Amino acid sequence: MFENLSDRLERSFKILKGEGKITEINVAETLKDVRRALLDADVNYKVAKSFTDTVKQKALGMNVLTAVKPGQLMVKIVHDELAELMGGEAVGLNLSGRPAVILMSGLQGSGKTTFSGKLANMLKTKEHKNPLLVACDVYRPAAVEQLKVVGGQVGAPVYSEPGNKNVNEIADHAIAEAKARGNDVVIIDTAGRLAVDEEMMDEIESLKNHVNPDETLFVVDSMTGQDAVNTAKEFNDRLDFNGVVLTKLDGDTRGGAALSIRTVVTKPIKFIGTGEKMEAVDVFHPGRMADRILG
Ligand code: GDP
Repeated sequence: MFENLSDRLERSFKILKGEGKITEINVAETLKDVRRALLDADVNYKVAKSFTDTVKQKALGMNVLTAVKPGQLMVKIVHDELAELMGGEAVGLNLSGRPAVILMSGLQGSGKTTFSGKLANMLKTKEHKNPLLVACDVYRPAAVEQLKVVGGQVGAPVYSEPGNKNVNEIADHAIAEAKARGNDVVIIDTAGRLAVDEEMMDEIESLKNHVNPDETLFVVDSMTGQDAVNTAKEFNDRLDFNGVVLTKLDGDTRGGAALSIRTVVTKPIKFIGTGEKMEAVDVFHPGRMADRILG
């Protein structure tokens, strides 16, 4: 199945070569396998179709049929194309603001609070920044408590205003506090609902327009498959976010969401979450994700 896509491609091409009647049709047959594997991995149908069409053109253009090792060449073409589709290179954060403001968005349970802590930790340890975490989930006191726990774990201060339900005001106060205390990055954790709803979207859109963040990140659970793609589209339509954080890649997921989201919203995936611990995070590398998808 999906895990064996590399082997499967190599095998198909060995067989083709052995039969001595290699044609465009044979390539198309093999690529059907690739498409099926992508669909198995939750890649959106249109994305899988356009992907295999591109690979077909490249394979024919590179004379894959007469190559010494057609299977290996084919795997390389598929790998490079996957990586290219997912953005080619890793894309970093814009931290130019003084302080730099990063706004988290996403559904409840996607991993926003956890990632806020992970990001604060990364910025502290790798970039020697001094981040301030801001609790803008004004509906769930438990969410504020959770952010405080996370802040405590990574040694980052947490700004919150119990009783105040105006997130724009809380953000203003937090940014003023950051300036006064010398925090060079402000990470704003926001409320999420179980499904996209107008009220939540209005609130976060207004917050985004109000604070004009340097980065708006969309956090999404990679285990949610096609739903992840639909949610990404809805958030992007409202927020025009800068990048995606794909969480829970340690779970039983085949990574198809990465490819689909990248193609549907054309925004880079910037980070991946690989566990519940504060260290379980990585910069997104398209080439490594292509390796994962190929297995
Ligand atoms: P929020 O509602 O968007 O703030 O989501 P949370 O940060 O509270 O995360 C929801 C749940 O997912 C928590 O139990 C987290 O520990 C868990 N979680 C977050 N990120 C990851 C991840 O990358 N891997 C795993 N396995 N669990 C995660």
